[in-house]
Amino acid sequence: DELISQIAAGEVVERPASVVRELVDNALDAGARNVLVKLMAGGVRSIVVEDDGCGIPVAQLPLALKRHATSKIASLNELESVATMGFRGEALAAIASVSEMAIASRTADAAHAHRLDARSGELGAAARSRGTSVEVRELFFATPARRKFLKTDATELAHCVEAVRRHALARPDVGFAIWHEGKLVDQWRPAAIEQRIGDVLGEDFIAESRAFEHSAGPLALTGRAGLPEAARSRADQQYVWVNGRYVRDKLISHAIRSAYEDVLHGQRQPSYVLFIEIAPELVDVNVHPTKIEVRFRDGRAIHQSVRRAFIDALAQSRA
Ligand code: ADP
Ligand code: MG
Repeated sequence: DELISQIAAGEVVERPASVVRELVDNALDAGARNVLVKLMAGGVRSIVVEDDGCGIPVAQLPLALKRHATSKIASLNELESVATMGFRGEALAAIASVSEMAIASRTADAAHAHRLDARSGELGAAARSRGTSVEVRELFFATPARRKFLKTDATELAHCVEAVRRHALARPDVGFAIWHEGKLVDQWRPAAIEQRIGDVLGEDFIAESRAFEHSAGPLALTGRAGLPEAARSRADQQYVWVNGRYVRDKLISHAIRSAYEDVLHGQRQPSYVLFIEIAPELVDVNVHPTKIEVRFRDGRAIHQSVRRAFIDALAQSRA
């Protein structure tokens, strides 16, 4: 089972940023209002994610680490309408199989917190307020071949920060802070979406982009389309979320590219943020273990709507 978990880990955990992504997903699923990410050595030495969510009842702590143990769906039917970030129940088990992991958690009605050491199974009393802290130390310590593929601490840190930015943009109502080696790297307080986009992507992006809103049947699109005349120093940032989940999707990027080409005749494609809300039964998020890919039931309708939303935003900015 250890081996199977390690193989599964290869699909879920590629680098520290994958751990950060999964742990923050869990914090948000737990209803956190504030999420704290603390890293050492780019996350390779240690990643700690603390939340103020619902916590894990002590009786369920060992279960949280079991493969395919999820508290989020009870049947395959529910997979059709999954509203949480997680549902596969494999992230914690996979991460624990390639690191030294410990979880400390406290529910609202518990007298104190409990801490479970994943390797030894040792369970003890701990001190913390309501919520959960997951510590992941020495990622890939037992799989040197995997560890060798990691880049410099600075690069791994940048990927970790990027993972949190994706969450921060999707959840402006939640506060986020990232620390590295005891220093505050970034912090975003709960805010309205417009403010959060400015906080994360820079005020210049707000000035140099147009907001759009477009809805068609079970589909609602909101976001901002960057204007190409803007001279941006930073590399272009292109973000798409489907029901709050950051995704990469060829169909969607094609639709956006074709909108820019139509309106601006082949100029470069600048930054954008696109939030797609769609009835959960019209999208399959269980395509890939990392859930970064999705499959739409009606790809053509998505393509048309995304294209339309961007064309309208860009045309309006030219008028
Ligand atoms: P999944 O998120 O797919 O359910 P995970 O392996 O990521 O699977 O987590 C396993 C279980 O552990 C979750 O279903 C949840 O019950 C519990 N859990 C993990 N992290 C947290 C957290 N931060 N707060 C509360 N519960 C958590
Ligand atoms: Mg999860």
